[in-house]
Amino acid sequence: MARIAFIGLGNMGGGMAANLAKARHSVVAFDLSEAALERAEAAGCERATNAREACAEAAAVVTMLPAGRNVEAVYTAEVFGAAPASAVLIDCSTIDVATARRVSAIAEERGYDMVDAPVSGGIAAAAAGTLTFMVGGSDEAFAKAEPILSAMGKAVIHAGAGGSGQAAKICNNMVLGATMVATCEAFLLARKLGLDPQTFYDIASQSSGQSWSLTSYAPLPGVGPQTPADRDYQGGFAAALMLKDLTLAMEAGTQAGADTPMGRRAAELYAAFVEDGHATTDFSGIIRMLEARSEG
Ligand code: NAD
Repeated sequence: MARIAFIGLGNMGGGMAANLAKARHSVVAFDLSEAALERAEAAGCERATNAREACAEAAAVVTMLPAGRNVEAVYTAEVFGAAPASAVLIDCSTIDVATARRVSAIAEERGYDMVDAPVSGGIAAAAAGTLTFMVGGSDEAFAKAEPILSAMGKAVIHAGAGGSGQAAKICNNMVLGATMVATCEAFLLARKLGLDPQTFYDIASQSSGQSWSLTSYAPLPGVGPQTPADRDYQGGFAAALMLKDLTLAMEAGTQAGADTPMGRRAAELYAAFVEDGHATTDFSGIIRMLEARSEG
């Protein structure tokens, strides 16, 4: 099996690196956090003392870092030059399209095959190996990355050239943010109009109001399948991460000259929710803020 450098062993990367080790790859891991390194070692990875050391002799480099500035710094200062020219470089972080395109263009100039491969699915899917990867890069780079990504996910989809994975991710999450807000306000209005929430769910989930936010992630406790709403909005997808993705979508919209009024409104509402002390609350908990506004 392949020797794989894994950089960024946080909430997501920790589970992903463990799945690569479970698939019998030889995983050499690095993170700035000692606790993360210890968890990776316990999951069967070998620890490196820095990112350059992790990349030496690697057939693939996988990164799962917080933001674009981390990705640019790690690739330009550590990965480029340290990884063999034959290595495929795979960035799974969610970052802005412009940085993804810039880093992948530098990689290409330096002779590397690189893909941006952000994920859909949270910490539980990272641990279970059931992520969906949206991949941007050349056909050759995708062919090299695909078997490695398959060991960490249930679906690996080629979205187009470098940066296209990030484009798909932020467009998808812009739909998710806007439909969640719309679903929350529909439940609140339905209740004010005297409809039972479960009855509204039964009708809308089989009508044109149906969406993933409604049928897989209903924001009211006791309605639809088990969701974070049934756990007081704990766990799930943190509001701060939804705000991050909506902000990336708004920046991309401005740069590309695309009008995104619903996405912008969702970004404003999530910014208010996060500012209100709900950064770690599940994003469906925004129903509480909308409810309070209706009462006020
Ligand atoms: P996290 O903060 O838990 O993990 C990031 C890790 O990167 C940390 O352990 C940190 O120490 C490490 N790191 C930062 N700079 C580094 C450097 N220079 N060298 C080595 N290690 C470094 O974040 P996370 O929740 O795992 O998210 C990672 C990425 O995945 C983000 O881009 C996020 O938007 C995306 N994402 C997260 C989720 C989720 O539910 N958490 C879902 C989908 C996508």
